[in-house]
Amino acid sequence: MLLDADIKAQLAQYLQLLESDILLKVSAGTDEVSRDMLTLVDELATMSPKIKVEHAELSRTPSFSVNRIGEDTGVTFAGIPLGHEFTSLILALLQVSGRAPKVEQRLIDQIKNIKGEYHFESYISLSCHNCPDVVQALNLMSILNEGITHTMIDGAAFKQEVESKDIMAVPTVFVNGESFGSGRMTLEEILAKIGNGPDASEFADKEPYDVLIIGGGPAGSSAAIYAARKGIRTGLVAERFGGQVMDTMAIENFISVKQTEGPKLVAGLEEHVKEYGVDVMNLQRAKRLEKKDLIEVELENGAVLKSKTVILSTGARWRNVGVPGEAEFKNKGVAYCPHCDGPLFEGKRVAVIGGGNSGIEAAIDLAGIVKHVTVLEFMPELKADAVLQERLYSLPNVTVLKNVQTKEITGTDKVNGISYMDRDTEEVHHIELEGVFVQIGLVPNTEWLGDTIERTRFGEIIVDKHGATSIPGVFAAGDCTDSVYKQIIISMGSGATAALGAFDYLIRN
Ligand SMILES: Cc1cc2nc3c(=O)[nH]c(=O)nc-3n(C[C@H](O)[C@H](O)[C@H](O)COP(=O)(O)OP(=O)(O)OC[C@H]3O[C@@H](n4cnc5c(N)ncnc54)[C@H](O)[C@@H]3O)c2cc1C
Repeated sequence: MLLDADIKAQLAQYLQLLESDILLKVSAGTDEVSRDMLTLVDELATMSPKIKVEHAELSRTPSFSVNRIGEDTGVTFAGIPLGHEFTSLILALLQVSGRAPKVEQRLIDQIKNIKGEYHFESYISLSCHNCPDVVQALNLMSILNEGITHTMIDGAAFKQEVESKDIMAVPTVFVNGESFGSGRMTLEEILAKIGNGPDASEFADKEPYDVLIIGGGPAGSSAAIYAARKGIRTGLVAERFGGQVMDTMAIENFISVKQTEGPKLVAGLEEHVKEYGVDVMNLQRAKRLEKKDLIEVELENGAVLKSKTVILSTGARWRNVGVPGEAEFKNKGVAYCPHCDGPLFEGKRVAVIGGGNSGIEAAIDLAGIVKHVTVLEFMPELKADAVLQERLYSLPNVTVLKNVQTKEITGTDKVNGISYMDRDTEEVHHIELEGVFVQIGLVPNTEWLGDTIERTRFGEIIVDKHGATSIPGVFAAGDCTDSVYKQIIISMGSGATAALGAFDYLIRN
């Protein structure tokens, strides 16, 4: 039995929603994964008379494709789509059967209008929470456009292929055999990347806004809702709607919601923001801000947006350690997300740079998967909470190096070691290993502001208790500011403050 009773019950409900017959073409061998895959496919077929199964030769074994009767869709699962990919399987079954996807019509139209051939392959792990979005977006594209195919490949079932392609981060996507990208990507991001995003000229003749928000994380979303609820013209520009929350797995401190996941919270934010008719310009990056009569914000695509007030909520990103080898071996052994990429280092040796809470959480998490973890901390003591340290020191396969400075991440085509200096003795040592997880905090996304606005030496925008910055009419909120604590609920609170501050400013001026 591959599916437990709970999953079967869920599945039975979904399978009742199938709208027409579908054909699973199955390519299986005699190995264990093939046997499990056959069990899964057979269970599906027993549960719904609409699911037919046929044995076939597909380019990977074990794999199966999900098709309409008489028409291949190009949606293939290589390996077994359980774990985080279970939803991807259900959605593929439903959508291939003709059930409408829960995606905006403009995106569906964009997909249908894509010309040319795009054969996508995505390498995933079943424990990766960033992967299903990518798999589901590519599956949908494949279902809606006959020039597009997509194969999801479980790295654990295709270890040799993963090794031969040097894949060390999931999801990693190839298109027509060439590298396409890695990490979480939304459908909109994928469409933009293949040149089917919104046309830049769309932004050229926008009327001035009352409030223009730059950044679409919790701070920007909250500011947008508060501003729009005042009945004023509100726009929101975001390089990537959702911000850091899109990369967060479990959230347990968003008050009144005991437990949720980042992408789920982002879906709620998006729905709430759109409820108020906010003009959301996603996948657009601001590159310049200037105060004239109105405040002008120039986007990377050249369009200039004008507004009476602006709220900056551009958040923060992972801080790089900045040593030789880090950029060169990114996704080739250098990683930033232990939840996502940890499983790719199963049985291998890794280092975690950083001894704060996130570093120690990462080390504990990784120690359960990898052969050995070395923690490198620059300061003489770890900064993580005592309970985390206690747990860390109880693990048999962890070494903690304190008062050490990372000098270099070494490798040829992928990481093979790390060099560090003992700060007491100034001796340099080298450890052989296969992966390095960088966990040294965040840096604010404020470089694009140049010298226009007063910032701290860390680059954080200085705000007063109304969220006002050094430029009249420009407010700021969230992780990009000098707020002492960086949390979702705090960002949302400061987003609300900035919007109310901006509204107050509009009334007075
Ligand atoms: C892995 C991880 C786990 C976390 N877990 C938790 C948790 O459990 N609980 C909790 O409370 N907090 C958690 N946090 C912290 C929390 O995510 C942040 O405090 C919060 O997201 C900050 O919100 P923000 O809106 O200020 O910025 P962000 O979420 O960083 O959003 C910034 C927005 O600005 C956009 N942007 C950036 N530059 C530009 C530009 N030039 N032009 C246009 N748009 C731009 C981005 O695309 C994004 O839309 C976690 C963070 C991480 C990384």
